Amino acid sequence: MSTIHEALRARTNRTPGAIAVACGDHELSYAELDAAADRLAARLLRFERTGPVGVLHRRSVYHVVALLAVLKMGEAYVPIDPRLSPAARAEFLRDAGVRILLSDGAPSDADAALGLPIVDARADEAGGVPVDVGRVPPDALAYLMRTSGSSGRPKVIGISHRNVVDLAADPCFGAEEKLRVLLHSAEAFDASVFELWVTLLNGGQVVLWPEPELDIATLSRLVTGLQLTRIWLTAGVFAAVAAEHPKALRGLREVWTGGDVVPVDAVRRVQAAGPGISVVNGYGPTETTVFATSHAVDDPVGFTSDVPIGRPLLGVRAYVLDDNLWPVPQGQIGELYIGGAGVARGYEGQPAMTAERFVADPFNGEGSRMYRSGDLVRVGADAVLHFAGRADDQVKIRGFRVEPGEVEAALLRFPDVARAAVTVRESGTGQRTLAAYVVPAEGCAPEPAELRARLGAHLPDYLVPETVLPMVSFPVTANGKLDRRALPDPPVPGRARGSGTTPGTRREELFAGLVISVLGIAEAPVDQGFFELGGDSISALRLVARAAGAGWGITLRDVFAWGTISELAKAARPVRPLETTAVPELEPVPLDDDELAMVQSELGSDA
Ligand code: ADP
Repeated sequence: MSTIHEALRARTNRTPGAIAVACGDHELSYAELDAAADRLAARLLRFERTGPVGVLHRRSVYHVVALLAVLKMGEAYVPIDPRLSPAARAEFLRDAGVRILLSDGAPSDADAALGLPIVDARADEAGGVPVDVGRVPPDALAYLMRTSGSSGRPKVIGISHRNVVDLAADPCFGAEEKLRVLLHSAEAFDASVFELWVTLLNGGQVVLWPEPELDIATLSRLVTGLQLTRIWLTAGVFAAVAAEHPKALRGLREVWTGGDVVPVDAVRRVQAAGPGISVVNGYGPTETTVFATSHAVDDPVGFTSDVPIGRPLLGVRAYVLDDNLWPVPQGQIGELYIGGAGVARGYEGQPAMTAERFVADPFNGEGSRMYRSGDLVRVGADAVLHFAGRADDQVKIRGFRVEPGEVEAALLRFPDVARAAVTVRESGTGQRTLAAYVVPAEGCAPEPAELRARLGAHLPDYLVPETVLPMVSFPVTANGKLDRRALPDPPVPGRARGSGTTPGTRREELFAGLVISVLGIAEAPVDQGFFELGGDSISALRLVARAAGAGWGITLRDVFAWGTISELAKAARPVRPLETTAVPELEPVPLDDDELAMVQSELGSDA
């Protein structure tokens, strides 16, 4: 058994010249990556500070060098979500006990106040000696990641080298000869561990996508242009790609998806558009190292009502238990407990929470532990696991794990909020959003928009409720508890401000139609924004794809940047229509002479 960097050194010795990571024209071979990480590790070791190292580098080959250098030092890396506000980031850095910060941006005041040394991994210095890779024990922590916690504080999960090396050893990852995997997931989420370390430990090439956003047309170009063989898409993104442009995935050998329920229909569409693609449903909480089980759907006829989450990966043990920890009979629903390979050490610095979730494994000998997932599952007649929902009120919002209790706790920390309740609303199109209800403290009248802004200073955007409704008091049940079901419907976003402005131009009309079709709403006043009307990052992907299908180019960044539908329509540029599958029937918008010239030159340069 070895550490991640030791296993990687073994790979490097076998194929030193093979490309390990590529970002645009910048490529590093396995040997170059190893040497660059040695140099950076030598620089970092000069600080003589022991403890985790925060990483806040934009995605480039230096990012990978940074992560590997931290591992070689024998420390855990702590990827920081750039979406966190400076205050939340500082809180996380403190909670995780970070001692050094690797960053390529200007430090915020909150970062500076922590007094940490800040190092830019891009300043590659000559010198440095190969690090003694045998120095670090396999049970040392490799990374720390945070996830939503109902107590109101995020949980910090510590994953060891052994956990990652065990994951990568599953034979399903190494079967491909020429493995090329896109690294596009945010580093703060463990899908990036799959994209990065599982690929490198299996001798493949990691291709980095440097931007935070990836639209479906670009994804399609990357898949063919870079000859990718495997990709990970969170279930929501996978479903959006399947609905809008399933051909985007043609050419891939494997598409891994999961993180949330994978719709059967989406798998069918992807396989119909790209015969031979193996769609793999990967299931697993961060606490059990990316994936605990998987199910490859090679034959679309083999399933009907749901896509199974499959069988445990190599060395993983999956138990379906009742409340007394007795195994439930086949076909019945129980809670999934996960033991064996991949189970984390626990929540760092949070022993009570660890004891609650990481319990003794009575089926696997002295000292072993299993993780109580909170997921309900059953073993089907096909002898594989099927997901059957949650045992608590944790939900996934756009692929992010959310405990509504964390948001309630954050609201209750405000002195002008006496009571708070947060519920999850699901729209007709399956989009989940949070709705908050608050009873103000005596004599206070906090404004909903202002409360949302205050929450945004502490929480990542996916934890900020879309609506906040102040109430005089909460409805209660017969025994005096909050009656969640009796809470009123949350206000419809955007409606309050809606002036009902109708489209003035044909292009505005087209964009209003696209927004209506993507969000499944009745009307879209053009003086309102896509997000005000209930859009999110996944429906934004669909909007961009549908606009491209109608011959209008907008970027995801445009959707985020422009305040209203009218401005978005103005920013759109004519493009050759993307061959999407779900363009609503809308009249084409005539082009003016300049626009016609643009399309012609685009078509010309493509020929
Ligand atoms: P991930 O990175 O896999 O999303 P998280 O720790 O954020 O991991 O979330 C784990 C939870 O997400 C699981 O406990 C389960 O509720 C849900 N989940 C993960 N994968 C799947 C899947 N393939 N099908 C259904 N639910 C899933």
